[in-house]
Amino acid sequence: MALRIVIGLVLTAVAFAIAGRRLWWLFRLGRTGQPAPERIEAVREHPARDAGTEVTEVLGQRKLLKWSVPGTAHFLTFWGFIILILTLIESYGDLFSKTFAIPGIGRWAWVGFLEDLFAVAVLAGVITFAVIRLRADPKREGRRSRFSGSHTRAAWLVLLLIFLVIATLLIYRGAQINTGDFPYAHGAFASQIVGHWLHPLGLTANKALETTFILAQLAVVLGFLVVVTYSKHLHIALAPINVLFSRRPDGLGALQPMRSGGKVLDFEEADPDTDIFGRGKIEDFTWKGMMDMATCTECGRCQSQCPAWATGKPLSPKMLILDLRDHAFAKAPYLLAASDEAREKLPDAVKAEADRPLVGGKDANGVIDPDVLWSCTNCGACVEECPVDIEHIDHIADMRRHQVLIESAFPTEASSMLKNLENKGDPWGMGEARRLDWAEGLGFEVPVVDGPIGDDVEYLFWVGCAGALEDRARKTTRAIAELLHTAGVSFAVLGPAETCTGDPARRIGNEFVFSMLAQQNIETLNEAGARKIVASCPHCFNALANEYPQLGGDYEVIHHTQLLARLVSEGRLTPVAPVEEKITYHDPCFLGRHNRVFTPPREIMEQVPGVRAQEMHRCKERGFCCGAGGARMWMEERIGKRINTERIEEALGTSPDTISTGCPYCLVMLGDAISAKKSSGEAAESLEVVDVAQILQRSVRPRATAATVGPGAPDSAGGEPAQDESG
Ligand code: SF4
Ligand code: SF4
Repeated sequence: MALRIVIGLVLTAVAFAIAGRRLWWLFRLGRTGQPAPERIEAVREHPARDAGTEVTEVLGQRKLLKWSVPGTAHFLTFWGFIILILTLIESYGDLFSKTFAIPGIGRWAWVGFLEDLFAVAVLAGVITFAVIRLRADPKREGRRSRFSGSHTRAAWLVLLLIFLVIATLLIYRGAQINTGDFPYAHGAFASQIVGHWLHPLGLTANKALETTFILAQLAVVLGFLVVVTYSKHLHIALAPINVLFSRRPDGLGALQPMRSGGKVLDFEEADPDTDIFGRGKIEDFTWKGMMDMATCTECGRCQSQCPAWATGKPLSPKMLILDLRDHAFAKAPYLLAASDEAREKLPDAVKAEADRPLVGGKDANGVIDPDVLWSCTNCGACVEECPVDIEHIDHIADMRRHQVLIESAFPTEASSMLKNLENKGDPWGMGEARRLDWAEGLGFEVPVVDGPIGDDVEYLFWVGCAGALEDRARKTTRAIAELLHTAGVSFAVLGPAETCTGDPARRIGNEFVFSMLAQQNIETLNEAGARKIVASCPHCFNALANEYPQLGGDYEVIHHTQLLARLVSEGRLTPVAPVEEKITYHDPCFLGRHNRVFTPPREIMEQVPGVRAQEMHRCKERGFCCGAGGARMWMEERIGKRINTERIEEALGTSPDTISTGCPYCLVMLGDAISAKKSSGEAAESLEVVDVAQILQRSVRPRATAATVGPGAPDSAGGEPAQDESG
């Protein structure tokens, strides 16, 4: 008895010492990151909300369960480990007394049943994980495997350890039944089966098995504890904390303002020598950023959804996080060294790691390759999927900010876009004089804001640069304006006073240009007294609704599909003319995933007679990007397959007559891909991509209205021809 107590306690002390040392090291490493007081403040201000998030995300495993088979296996394993804490208490108690039972509940049959039920559930979970890993073996599946790039050996070791935890548990409990030491007379069905198998070995052997396997169980559990702190399974400890301090509702929507030393950077006072501009080295990340890196479970869910990875680009959101983590760990001795002298004495390998640029090509031995950094479309698929709430887009944006603002290193082809934004207020450099061209020839006058907006104007229609200046997007703008007019919604536009929201500048990393444009727009909007804004571009919508409040611009912003869906449901717009087409809807990332507007565009199409709406395999939360977000619209796509081609091929798989969307960027990107497919004979000449507003317009617009538009006006200016009533 004394010996097993000694062995048990020594094992425990050693394991806790090793694991504790490692956790202390990780804690100190995290503290080398920048402060993030806003994260702590948010938790202090909303404790109930954050407790709710812990319940749904951690205890309820909400995101994991979106993947039904692995999600269920993880749910069972997670809850199994919580329930099996009871058996761990019993194991330690058994060290001291062979007939130990947990005080109060330790002899209740349902407790024994619950323990065994979850022991079997964990076993089922482990077997499921093993099968999943075998089927998605990266050696065979290559890039298609979500485990490609993950540390698969460590994952197999952990699966083995979990299996051993359960195996040793059931063996010692089975032996206890035969020795009469087991606390549960009934209920522990799995232990009873094992006890039945062990019974023929006799009492002496069962006593030896009981002692041996209690110690073996403790050894395996403690070994697991140590492995957890040194592997991706650190997420067991860190995930609840990482989820607690993550952005609400998630890391989508707005980009965060640039912060230095925990404060929002003021460009008028900022000093590049003392302030941090984005992330230029690993210690520029906040402690929360560093915790993101340490929490990654290497599950590869993000990678499996990433359009850049799917089309052969070097960017995998998982590998980006893992590369940052590996670098942080390798540089840790340098970061944690107490003095410059101590740093000097570090091994050359550590000093070389410390010297690596955060972003740099192979020649520069950078941690993150520029092609990785610039491949991101900010589509949000990674953030949406990540079960531990890692904020990939924020990290990518912060690294881009440093590259653009400090290093002036970004894809050269995007420089004209930035210059145009600065000098002309739109990415094409067409200037304010062209901003009302889209309205020419409409059968009614579009009021242009000139001074304070009157009470009779319900909405300010934010047209956006594409909606005002790009030929295809102008058709959408005209359709929206005509529908609002038909519905009797009073609206006005800013016309020449509208400039780019700054979204492309912010997404490429030029926060300076973004804040310049945003402040200018906010001034214009506030002077006009704008309160309710309808935006046709999801990127404008996202900036106006989610990012402008960071600069003092608070407005009620909706997307045109939301407003049009409401007008249809209120009977103010009545689709009557049939549109007999199979229509496949493409979810714009900045409308759907970033802002959760999935239903209104679909509701509009449902209300149009004749429309047979269909879905692509990747839709709604799992929608696949068109390739234009994250300022990718303004960069060349030189590596891998074009993202818009991949998307259009998926759409073509549904044999649509028309593809619809709700974003001018998507309209352009998908339109280009369709044109290429038409040239190669892979798409019908009649196939087109249109905004849902155009589909609604075809059905709603009365013939009389068409007549008032004037000879050829809508079409010559890019409008849609009236649909023949006969369909
Ligand atoms: S935002 Fe989209 S493109 Fe960028 S890493 Fe995430 S999934 Fe990939
Ligand atoms: S970043 Fe999130 S989704 Fe991606 S591998 Fe890590 S834990 Fe999984």
